[in-house]
Amino acid sequence: MRRRVFQTSLMSALLAGVYDGDLAVSELLEHGDFGLGTFDALDGELVVLDGVAFRMRSDGSVHPIEPGDTTPFAVVARFAPDHVIPVLEPLTMAGLFDVVGAESQNYLYAVRVTGRFGSVTTRTVSVQQKPYPPLRDAVRGETMNTFADLDGTIVGFETPLYERGIGVPGGHVHFIDASRTRGGHALDFTLQSGTIEICVGTDLDLRLPLGASFAGASLSPDDLDAQVSATERS
Ligand code: ZN
Repeated sequence: MRRRVFQTSLMSALLAGVYDGDLAVSELLEHGDFGLGTFDALDGELVVLDGVAFRMRSDGSVHPIEPGDTTPFAVVARFAPDHVIPVLEPLTMAGLFDVVGAESQNYLYAVRVTGRFGSVTTRTVSVQQKPYPPLRDAVRGETMNTFADLDGTIVGFETPLYERGIGVPGGHVHFIDASRTRGGHALDFTLQSGTIEICVGTDLDLRLPLGASFAGASLSPDDLDAQVSATERS
């Protein structure tokens, strides 16, 4: 079964400070019912679950989408699980991606983890002012939140290494709790019990922004790997 992953802009564009939202979140939702991203000026973290999009702010709070909300970077898919794996023992984020990449490292994977979490550590970048700093500087002011003992869902993607610069190799996940009131970009978690669902992406639909900031950005810096690990996994 072929499954399409839709993405607007590139991870390397975000690293370079291309934060102007140029795709309406309402239009993004036409391409998928599951996914993640960010908002214009990095004002919060975007999560899409069961066809509904939410904005998660730096205090860990969750808000509905407003008409006119736009995104500078997002990845979505129509989620259909190809693999369903029950989790009976505690599982960390590193353990999750051992499971996801076990069969092949060469596809895109949409990953949904639903269950009871012992802890989830999230970070959420605060809204940025122009002239936009590179992401490495923007995340220095990020807020970390830790949530304990709650039900929720991890929404994310594992991107193959050959897609470095396009996505975030090694996994990019957001968390939202079951009551849709708390969440953020997840740095780590411990799942106590639940279910991993994996949707194997075979097709990538990549949409590039038309704005001058994207057109003029340097998208293949020599220290790309260092920038990705400094911004996405620390
Ligand atoms: Zn994120």
